[in-house]
Amino acid sequence: ATPTALMVGTGRGAQLGILLRGPEVLESTRRVDTVVLDKTGTLTTGEMRLVGDADATALRFAAAVEDGSTHPIARAVAEAGRRRVGELPAADDARTIDGLGVSGTVDGHEVLVGRPQLLAEHGMPLSDDLAAELARVQAGGATAVVVGWDGAARAVLGVADTVRETSAEAVREMTALGVRPVLLTGDHETAARAVAAAVGIDEVHAGVLPEEKADAIVALQAAGHTVAMVGDGVNDAAALARADLGLAMGAGTDVAIEAGDVTLVRDDLRAVPTALRLARRTLATIR
Ligand code: ADP
Ligand code: MG
Repeated sequence: ATPTALMVGTGRGAQLGILLRGPEVLESTRRVDTVVLDKTGTLTTGEMRLVGDADATALRFAAAVEDGSTHPIARAVAEAGRRRVGELPAADDARTIDGLGVSGTVDGHEVLVGRPQLLAEHGMPLSDDLAAELARVQAGGATAVVVGWDGAARAVLGVADTVRETSAEAVREMTALGVRPVLLTGDHETAARAVAAAVGIDEVHAGVLPEEKADAIVALQAAGHTVAMVGDGVNDAAALARADLGLAMGAGTDVAIEAGDVTLVRDDLRAVPTALRLARRTLATIR
């Protein structure tokens, strides 16, 4: 590989909104045969909103504890709460539990918001009524968030976002290049399958905890694949670093961008097949 050709390839990438950490990244890009894609904020816009009717007290408490978090779900809940009740009460000891939810104290009540599993682990399993509500929300393709306080689960909120317009075409182009797309998400299987079907992905790994995302990459590598990971969140950072090629969405968190080898400036996944073609072309001319 001549330095000049690599420089030209890197410069061409920059023009296309594909920022490479260095020219050597083109070589790992060329070898990629599997692209693992995060769901929320990567295949989808990450701009979530509350769907359905929420119990006013549950929304008020949940919004207060979510107000300190930057997670797309947290932003949706806090915004909906503010719209509904005006100024939110303060939450004491608000804490984010990565990939699971948030906790905090509001008006003297200990509030927990997040995955059903998180609440169950804290002695707040779902009643039959809430379990039915959860199933109803998930069947609609939304992400269900459980709200509990004073030792019991008390409400289910639904949040949803939209698939980016460019995602399906990006997946089609990757497949045409002989690269296998895989969806990897912390979200529930039902919501994950809905997005996978919308963009044309068959292989789905759902319900994955943040620390398990990197393990999923390692498993694919152990099976002999050269793996690219595309993500946007703090929860994706370890997987981005572990992958043979880490691609961070430009609007993603700084942690994700720092962990990646490539930044996709335009938040458009079609940049992934474009990068693959660029690497193949650049390295083909100098071999
Ligand atoms: P993804 O892999 O799709 O980017 P995350 O790993 O960030 O998703 O989150 C996985 C799941 O954990 C969410 O679908 C949600 O159920 C729960 N969760 C994470 N953060 C929060 C939060 N701040 N509030 C409520 N639920 C949350
Ligand atoms: Mg994400």
